[in-house]
Formats: sequence, structure tokens, C-alpha cells
Amino acid sequence: MNDIKAVIIDGYVDEPACFGVPPYISPYIRYIAGALREKGLQETDISFFTIDELRKDRTDAAELIKKADINIVVAGMTVPGKYLRSTPINLEEIESIFSTASGLKVLGGPIRLGFSLEGGKKAESNLINATDLIICQKDIEALVYDILGETTKDPEELEHRFRSVEEIGRWAVKGAFIIRNHPDYPNVMCELETYRGCGRNQHCSFCTEPFYGSSDYRPISDVVLEVAGLYEFGARYFRIGRQPDILSYHAKDRGGHIPEPDPQAILSLYKGIRNVAPQLKVLHMDNANPGTISAYPELCKEIFRTIVKYHTAGDVAALGMESADPTVVKANGLKAMPDEIFEAISIINEVGRKRGNNGMPELLPGINLVHGLMGESKKTFDLNYSFLKRVLDSGLLLRRINIRQVMAFPGTRMYGNDELVRKHKQIFLKYKEKIRKDIDLPMLQNITPAGTIIREVMCEINDRKMCFGRQMGSYPLLVGIPVNMPTGTFIDVTVTRHGHRSITGIPYPLDINTAPIPLIQELPGIGKKHATLIHSKAPFSSKKDFIERIGNEELLAFINI
Ligand code: SF4
Repeated sequence: MNDIKAVIIDGYVDEPACFGVPPYISPYIRYIAGALREKGLQETDISFFTIDELRKDRTDAAELIKKADINIVVAGMTVPGKYLRSTPINLEEIESIFSTASGLKVLGGPIRLGFSLEGGKKAESNLINATDLIICQKDIEALVYDILGETTKDPEELEHRFRSVEEIGRWAVKGAFIIRNHPDYPNVMCELETYRGCGRNQHCSFCTEPFYGSSDYRPISDVVLEVAGLYEFGARYFRIGRQPDILSYHAKDRGGHIPEPDPQAILSLYKGIRNVAPQLKVLHMDNANPGTISAYPELCKEIFRTIVKYHTAGDVAALGMESADPTVVKANGLKAMPDEIFEAISIINEVGRKRGNNGMPELLPGINLVHGLMGESKKTFDLNYSFLKRVLDSGLLLRRINIRQVMAFPGTRMYGNDELVRKHKQIFLKYKEKIRKDIDLPMLQNITPAGTIIREVMCEINDRKMCFGRQMGSYPLLVGIPVNMPTGTFIDVTVTRHGHRSITGIPYPLDINTAPIPLIQELPGIGKKHATLIHSKAPFSSKKDFIERIGNEELLAFINI
């Protein structure tokens, strides 16, 4: 197809089973680029911008949007969070982008389910005023493909549809080139899809995943080919995150309430990825259904062993627990009872808690808790808290506790039944604070005790006198470094202190002859006074000289002279 120009704008997505906020790039962007390529557009005909790039008033981008034959915005936060350096697109921005465009205007992604920037609010749809805007009701990549025909089709006549597994098998490879246009490239995390749709025979009251129908597993060879394509374009960071339960990839329906996992499929997937991407730096996962672990503990243990063998350390299996209150579990068709979840946490700890070569445990469980569900009472908050306390007191590790209020989407059982969100708001806020203080803080101290060396932290933003960074990965720890650093660089850090959900760290090893006082005073056992003294006595000619004049031999483990 000649002379068609397309612009893709990443307004970011955050769904329970798909993440696309920098440094992540979601599959949507890559599939759309691939669909456009299959329609005959050249790579140079396809421009790509993130919304944060557009906010920088880039005149080149504005010009391209104005002249493009088709502008495509991908957006939608179905589980909105707080992001370190990115802000998802808002409705005014969407309207403003499309108001300057003259070509086709397409909006899609999870925004089709409704729009809300905050958990606990009802998701609304049809909030955008633009008569000629096409809001994709199914898969945006399929719509983009269909709309560009021999003569571009009349949008009114278009049937919105889901793409097939075969189509994304092709588009994922053809669209891999687009990662080079991401502002974070080459440090982009590619979210990979293995399947979507829920294989359970009853569904959780709040979940939108069942809208996709039963699980449509991608062939292992397709996912591996996609990784090979991305790797060829320089991708080194991967997360197998776009599926509701990695353990159920290619699981078999044996008539039970949860399909039976296939450890061989996971082994082939991980081995295949390692074969085609030998120098990859990160290979992580996301969701695991605790109900699957409880129903098939031995098969799941085998899968976790495979994951730990082929992945990279610092990995997290996010468990959708949602509630430790049996009444809520039953009323909402949730996945597992509290004791079963406790067992799942124990199994993952048994296989994954060993510290890996990047300083973090190999694989830890995370927990998602959702409030405002049907049947919730004040007792629910106590039960959830007690459950987490039991995990902590048992010495088990949880990498992350995600607590949110439910967002009710049209078509789910929760829609119109979310009055408890408002009724329990105040209790929720207090309870969340208590968990941050009583559970998160000691848990973080257990996971990364002071003195732990964390490798390859990417410095992301400077805020006043602090730099904030994270490792590339699934739910990476936020690290605050008490000095400004060049952004985009990677450093090793020594953990020195813990916050509720973040740690403070200093560059490892610390060059004691050039380090400023705020960094020296973070060294173990050193206060401001002692740091000032060390600083005043620098430079030191050797370790021997340091010991003779300062006398603190333990510090040699963290410094460089
Ligand atoms: S198990 Fe529940 S939360 Fe998970 S995909 Fe199925 S319905 Fe959604």
C-alpha cells in the first residue's frame, strides 16, 4: 500500500494481565505496527510516540499527526497505579491529539472497557467528544488491519472483531522493529503474550478477562519467534506478562474447575526463549493463579523449578488472592481459600527464595488484595491483615502486596454492586497504611537486609537531591539514592535503609575519595558527624591508609579506594 502514513501513540495501558507503562512496551503497540506492515506500509511510514514524548511539545510529532492518514491512540488503565516517571494519557489529551488530526482517528486498547484514572471509581465509557473518532470495541490491531483496505474502508461499515492467534503470530514479528522508536530504547521491557481468556469454569466477579472467552493459547513456536524478532532489533528485557496465569499456559481441560498445567509446555517456552535470545538480560513472569497451585501443587512446583532455572533473578509471581475472607471468596467466585494461598506462598518460597546473581531472591510471590467486593465487612480487613501477619511471622517472603479498591466494569457482576467501595473508604485507607507500616517494612528488611548489593539499578529520575531508580524487571524495587545521578545509567547499589515500599541505597562500591557526605553517611554504622570526618580526611591512598586513619575495617566491603 503506497503513501499511507500512520502514527501510533502510546497513552499507556495497565491491566491485570498486561502492562505497558515505560520502561514497558505493551504488545498492542507491536501488533499494530505489524498489522500496518502486513498492509504494505514501510517501517518509515509508521511513526511512534509515547504520550510523555508528545507532552514535550515536539513540533515534528505534531506535524506528523496532522498529516497522517491514520492516527492510532492506545490507552486504558483498568488497574491504575502510581508510576515513577510516566503519566498515562487523559481524556483532554486524547481529544486534543485528535482535534489536530485530519486522517482516520482510532482509539483502542483497554479504554474500550471504560475510562477511570483511579481505583475505586466506576469505569465510564463514551466520555470523549469527537464525532469522527472510532473507538475500537474489540482488538485495535484487527481494526487497524481491516480499515486499511485496497481503498480505505468506511468506518461505519466496519465490524469490530478479535484478532486471531495466527494473526498476532505474524504481526508480533513484523511489528518488532517499533521498539527502536521507543524513547527508552534499548532499555525497553517487552511484555509478551502467551494467551488470554480465563480457563476457570466460574469467574471472579470483577474480572474482565472472561470477555475474551476461553483461553486461546499461542503456539510456543510463535512466542519464541516473536522473542527472536525482538532480540534481533536489540531487545534484551522480556516479561511473560500477558496472560492471567502462566501456570495454565497450554493447560488441559480435564473437566475439573481449573485446567491441569502442562510443565512440558513451560519448559519448551523458556528453553526456546533462551535459545533465540542467549544474551537476554531479563526474563520475568507476572501472574500465577494460586488456585492452580493449590489444585496441582506438584505440577506447579515442577513449573516453578523450570522458571527458576531459565529466568533471571528478581522475578515475581503475582498471586491474585483478592481476599482472605472466606465469605468474600465465596460471594465473588474467587480462586482460592486463605489456607490454600498460604500453601502457594510456601511453595514459591521453597523453590525461589534463594538469592540470585542480581542481589534479589530468584522468585518470590506477590499478593494482590482487592477491596469493595461483594460480602465485604469490617471483619474482612482484620482477616486480610491477620493473614499477612501470619505470612510475615512464618518467615515467608512476599515481594509485593498490592492493595486496591475494585473498579467495576460494565458486563461484570461487580458493576452496579460496588457501593462498599465508598462505604469502606476510610477503613480502607487506614488499613492500607497499617499494612505498609507493620507488614511491608519488615518484609522489605527481610528481603533485602542492609548491606545487600543490588545489581544493575537503572537511574530513572532526579528529584531535588535524590535519584530514583529500579532494576529492569517485574515489580522492581524502588531505590532512592541520596545524590543526583545521570539518568539512563545502570549502577550497583548497597542497600542502607528501608522505607515502606522502597529502599535507600548508595553506589557500590562507593568511591570514598570522591563521595559527598550524604552518601558517606549512608554507610553502615556511619552518622553525619562521622561521615563529615571521613570526608575531611579524604583522599586515602590505600585500604591500609583508610584503616590506619579511620579504623573501621567493615566499611572496606562497601567502598573503593
Ligand atoms: S481466575 Fe478470576 S481473576 Fe483470574 S482471569 Fe479468571 S476470572 Fe479473572
